[in-house]
Amino acid sequence: MRYPRHMTLELTAKCNFRCPYCYCVWHEYPVLAKPELDTDGWKSVLDKCAADGVRDILFTGGEALLRKDLFPIIDHARRMIPDASLSLFTNASRLTEPLLKAFKRRRVHLATSLQGLRTYGAMTGTRRSYKRLLALLARAAELGWPIAVSLTITKANLHEAADLFAAAALSGAKSIQLGPTMAGGRAATRNDLMVTREEWAAVKKQIRALPDGRVSYSFCDEFICECRSDTPSELLKAWRDPDHTPCPAGKSFGVVGPNGTYRTCLHALPA
Ligand code: SF4
Repeated sequence: MRYPRHMTLELTAKCNFRCPYCYCVWHEYPVLAKPELDTDGWKSVLDKCAADGVRDILFTGGEALLRKDLFPIIDHARRMIPDASLSLFTNASRLTEPLLKAFKRRRVHLATSLQGLRTYGAMTGTRRSYKRLLALLARAAELGWPIAVSLTITKANLHEAADLFAAAALSGAKSIQLGPTMAGGRAATRNDLMVTREEWAAVKKQIRALPDGRVSYSFCDEFICECRSDTPSELLKAWRDPDHTPCPAGKSFGVVGPNGTYRTCLHALPA
């Protein structure tokens, strides 16, 4: 099987956050997470990426910064595909200024989540505050290596969606992507966190009405993964989008999970 051009590598299933909306599929199917590939295993995956003509690699988890061999893996990717676009998605809890500089030196683009403001602790399952993350966003922008921010809108943080957007924009986010909680992963048992289509439409309207913050943003409108064959019928009935067009999962992008198993997208199960 040949890898598509854009690949996401889920380097670990381990994470120091417990976001109740976490979409990682191993919360439903733990077998997909174990045993985790070691350094050589990931280097082999990267060798295949190079051989198959992959040009765009996103490293994620879990929390990829928990891997002690993250830089050897990234450096191997850069060696094998010198002109590749490399990115890292991190919850930023372990991101520091020296690490920001190390990623900038390696031309690794960064992305993170801002899970809430007043709801940050509840939305990350930690006792942390959002303040450190906003300070990091600002520092990254000052260093000329701004971080892209993703906002997942849940029933719990819905009331502060516009504040979240403004906080990310004013702190210097490179770009902002917003989407509703998707039914899947840990959120498969937290359907109470899912916003309605009307609530989601209201969030989009609110964001579009904000003064121009000179930050690019985009919306992801998916509530369920339409590719999954195991979505319960009541969820399909409630959330299937009648206008959904088949997505390019598996054609233009693919995923390798923590144990090396290939899937067509972050939300999908192996074929
Ligand atoms: S959403 Fe990300 S940060 Fe939150 S628990 Fe899942 S992997 Fe960790």
